[in-house]
This record gives sequence, C-alpha cells and structure tokens, in this order.
Amino acid sequence: MGRVKLLIDHCSDESSSSVMAPFYANRSCDPFMPVDSPCQIGAYVRYAINVTEPADIIAGIEFAKKNNVRLVIRNTGKSSGPGSLSLWTHHLKDIEYIPEYKSEAYHGPALKVGAGVQGIEAFTAADKNGVVVLGGVCPSVGIAGGYTQGGGVSILAGKYGLAADQTLEFEVVTGEGKHVNASKTENTDLYWALSGGGGGTYGVVTSMTVKAHKDAPMTVARYSFGTSTAGASMDNYYDAFDFLHHMAPGYFDRGGYSFNIYSKGSPSLGYFFGPEWTEEDTAAFFQPWVERLESLGLKYSLNITEYPSYLTGYNSINNMVDVGASQSGGRIIPKDIILNKRAQYIQVIKTVIEDGASLLEVVAHPTLEVAGNPDNSVLPAWRDSAIFLITMTPWNDTAEWSQTLEGQKTITKWGGLLRELAPESGAYMNEADANEPNFQREFYGENYAELLCIKNRYDPDDIFYALTAVGSDAWTQSPDGRLCKTNP
Ligand SMILES: Cc1cc2nc3c(=O)[nH]c(=O)nc-3n(C[C@H](O)[C@H](O)[C@H](O)COP(=O)(O)OP(=O)(O)OC[C@H]3O[C@@H](n4cnc5c(N)ncnc54)[C@H](O)[C@@H]3O)c2cc1C
Repeated sequence: MGRVKLLIDHCSDESSSSVMAPFYANRSCDPFMPVDSPCQIGAYVRYAINVTEPADIIAGIEFAKKNNVRLVIRNTGKSSGPGSLSLWTHHLKDIEYIPEYKSEAYHGPALKVGAGVQGIEAFTAADKNGVVVLGGVCPSVGIAGGYTQGGGVSILAGKYGLAADQTLEFEVVTGEGKHVNASKTENTDLYWALSGGGGGTYGVVTSMTVKAHKDAPMTVARYSFGTSTAGASMDNYYDAFDFLHHMAPGYFDRGGYSFNIYSKGSPSLGYFFGPEWTEEDTAAFFQPWVERLESLGLKYSLNITEYPSYLTGYNSINNMVDVGASQSGGRIIPKDIILNKRAQYIQVIKTVIEDGASLLEVVAHPTLEVAGNPDNSVLPAWRDSAIFLITMTPWNDTAEWSQTLEGQKTITKWGGLLRELAPESGAYMNEADANEPNFQREFYGENYAELLCIKNRYDPDDIFYALTAVGSDAWTQSPDGRLCKTNP
C-alpha cells in the first residue's frame, strides 16, 4: 500500500482547503442550513457499500487496498471521512435469541445481533424472551459497533458492568479480508481487543453474541430543580447539585444509575433508574434530597414510577435527548472524588457552567465485580468511576464557523480542568473530545501497547483508520482530507 491514502476523486467545490478543516465538526451538505447554501460533500464519505454479507466487506477492503482509498466502517452513528469509501453495516439486522449458550466461560441465555442492530431492536427481542441486554440510553444507538467495542455505558451498568463486559463472541472480517470468529477460545487476542479497545480498528464486526440477563422490574425517578423560587441563589443551585453527588454512592453501589443534565438558566433535569428497586425504596431514598431542596428554597419536581420490566421503564424516557445539538468532551470522575473531594468537583462544575457549558452527568459504577471479573480491554479507569461527565458547547447551525471552532477549543480547555481534578482517571472514547491531548493514555490507559500489537496483527496493512483509534497516530490528515503516514 502506498504512503498516502488518496481521495477517490476530487470535487471542484472542495478545492479550497479552508472549508475542509477540521473534519470532526463539519457542515457538509447540512440539511439545517438554508436551501440556497452551497452543498459541499466535505467530510462525508464519497461512496458506501451497503453491506449485506461478509463478502461485501471483503470486496470493499480489497478495492480500497488496490486503489489506495480511505476506508470507513460505519454503523448507525456519525463515523465518516473525507473522500472515503464506507462499509455501511446498518442493515445487518439479524437477531437470534439463544436460551442456553454454552462455553467454558459462560452458560446461560444470550442474544446474537447483527452489526446493524440498534438498541431498541435488541431490547425488544430480549424482552420477548424475558431477558435484557445492555445498550445505550438512546434507542437508535447500534449495539455491536462503536458502542460495545468502545465500552458501552447503559442503564444497567451498575448491575452488570459495561456492554463490553457482556461479549461472548464476534464474527469479524479482519484487515486481511478474512472472516473469522473471535471468542474466549478462538482468536482470543482479537476478542480481547474488540471488547473495549475501540471500534473501527481491528476488523469489521458482522455479528456479536452477548450475555442476556433475566428481566426484572425497574423504578424510574424523573426530577428537576431550578432557581425560579424567589430568594434562591445560584449557590443554592450548586448546593443541590452537590447533594446529588453526595447521594450517588447510595444508589450506584446498589446497581442504580442516573443521568443529570445541567446548564445555567434552565432547570436541571435528572433521571434515576433503579433495577429491582421498588417505588417505596426509591421514594425513601430521595426524601433527604426533597428536604434539602425545600430548605434551599429551590423549585423542584419529582415523579417516581415502578415499571414491570426493563423495556417498559426504558421506553418511559424515550425521545428526550436532542441529538446533534452540541460538541462534547468530558472525563471519567472516580468514586474517590465523590467520596473525598466533592468541594473540588463542584468548583470545577461551577467554573465550566459559568463559562457557558451544558453538562451531562452519567452516574454509574461498573466495577469489575459487578461485571463478573472479565478479562477485556475496557479502559481500567471505568472500574473506579462514579460519574462520567460530558461537557458540551451548543451547536448552532447558523453561527459563524469560527464560533463553532471556538466551541471546540473551549471543550479542550475544560478538559484541562477535569484532568487536573482527576489526573489518574481517563476519558470515554465514545463521548470524547477529539482533541483530547495524549488520547492514547486517556482513552485506552495501560492497554494501549497491547492493543496496538493486536491491531498490527489483524490489520497489517493499516486499512482501518478512525480518529483517535488505536494506531491512528501513524497517520495525519492533511487539510484536503488525505491521510498521510506520519513516519513514512
Ligand atoms: C444519541 C446518542 C446517544 C448515545 N448514548 C450513549 C449511551 O447511552 N452510552 C454510551 O456508552 N454511548 C452512547 N453514545 C455514544 C456511542 O457509544 C458512540 O456514538 C458510538 O461510537 C456509536 O457507535 P456506532 O457503531 O453506532 O457509530 P458509528 O459512528 O457508525 O461508529 C463508531 C465507531 O465504531 C466503528 N464501527 C462501527 N461499526 C463497526 C463494526 N461493525 N465493526 C467495527 N467497527 C465499527 C466505526 O468505524 C467508528 O470508528 C450515544 C451516541 C449518540 C449519538
């Protein structure tokens, strides 16, 4: 393979490199722009193969190598690359329930999902069989692609660990174009890497088999609070935040999960999920919080409902996340910070909120123990985590592009504050700042060197590239979108 992965072709509308950078925040043929705005393909892929079977992937890999074309594996998300050929796995929708999966490592129910199966499709199939599998909070997120391969945080993280902890086997097409199985007994190194070491790196997964767990009732609490009561100050508002952090170990150590959305000037919203918690348990648990809010003079709401199953609880919160309206970064906040350094944490929160951030806190504690002590490549920082904090700047479709770029820089600046607070921790590759300094350490921790060996073993021609993926530092992207070897 040559040293430069070429664009498939050139469009005259891309001759100006200034419109092309940076590629991870782009406005290519943006449907939200006025209809008379120029439509530049920009960072979008130029061609896509709608994958229906592994042979399509093998042919795509061969074609890309032969013609020196940039290749992108794309599932349900935003994976892209200027001038590239995409292997689009979205339509691999097969789902098979396996009541008694048997291997040396696991004996129990399992679900086999094609690479394109989305969360809600897997949850629905599992529900029909009285079991649950782990998937993202939003129903559209694919399960077997970047989500599980990059870790995968779910509502059940405090009960069963991360999605990557549930994997039993993968069917994969490697960078050499071989269709193989990866499990605890076959291609074990590849299995280890695919279980937490990041998507788009080692091969194209065509299917994944994961553990399924017995379904159970779940209680959901929806809450909001804000400063709208006369006399309540921002200090009181931050005090209420801090109180939620104080309460967090009381539920994440009992399998609970929550996410909280904060920004200045709008009421904060939160959702708590208690697998196998009753309505009464949950109300008793939130009572001190209610008392605190009343003493602080904050306006609040709290609604607690017990649902008979995971799916009914999950569906009760659907459609509340505004997709694509922000740029984001963040950090994994260790339990030690919540137990011993809450004052420092709330100070950082105050600083970034006052600086214009919207925040999403995902509160979960996916320890090795709850995950069943798996041996995989999940970023070790997850095992001590209490909160995964996402910092966001708004995405404004009509703003000056320079303002959007400033937003990216601000995210990276806030990342510095979070690193100072928790230097030993890391960041979640699936929801990260693409400009995170030292991403190798922050996203992969001590696993990076081993993951790179595995990447080189299964993708010796380095055909799979994704921004901040393992081995991606061997390439730089030039302003016109070409990938060039860093050390030819
Ligand atoms: C609305 C929304 C909600 C989210 N909620 C959550 C959440 O609750 N928990 C959480 O942990 N994350 C969540 N995420 C983040 C999510 O985990 C990432 O966006 C993830 O990368 C999505 O993976 P994908 O395969 O669907 O996306 P894509 O953008 O298609 O792919 C992401 C990466 O995986 C690679 N990839 C995709 N398919 C394959 C494959 N078949 N084989 C090999 N590599 C592949 C791609 O090349 C790319 O590098 C959310 C994202 C969104 C947009």
